[in-house]
Amino acid sequence: MSGLEDLYREIILDHYRSPRNRGELASPPAHRVEGFNPLCGDEIVVYIDVDDPAKGDDAVVTDIRIGGQGCSISQSSASMMSAAVKGRNVGEIRDLTRAFKAMMSIHEEGLEGGEAEAPTDVTELKLGDLEALRGVVKFPVRIKCATLSWNTLAQGLDEAAAEV
Ligand code: ZN
Repeated sequence: MSGLEDLYREIILDHYRSPRNRGELASPPAHRVEGFNPLCGDEIVVYIDVDDPAKGDDAVVTDIRIGGQGCSISQSSASMMSAAVKGRNVGEIRDLTRAFKAMMSIHEEGLEGGEAEAPTDVTELKLGDLEALRGVVKFPVRIKCATLSWNTLAQGLDEAAAEV
């Protein structure tokens, strides 16, 4: 098990040291959204380009950039999120968001002794590097660090859709 935890730590550190999709996009046309986690002081700025918000769940996030600063968990999670959603459509991204949050909350419930079950429709999704954040749930105060970028992204997608 410690081998797996070492691997997870390596993945998190790699994204922290070499963040993917770091930077800004011209806004407009990109949508710019800020997220803040007051518990830890993490700030995330998400820029997304959506090809055609009128397409709803079929609209594609053609580009994404991440700004902000904060702890290693918040920044590496944002980097992983950006790599995972770039080029995907809104429907896929919402599924991925649910799967990621399920991974976090399942373990949260597990800590309290409950036998939590993941919703079947999201457990089959491949989370890839995002799996590395599994270990975060051992530190419940850090879960908000890990989910900050996802919540910020969701807000951006909602705003983009609302402008149609
Ligand atoms: Zn944090």
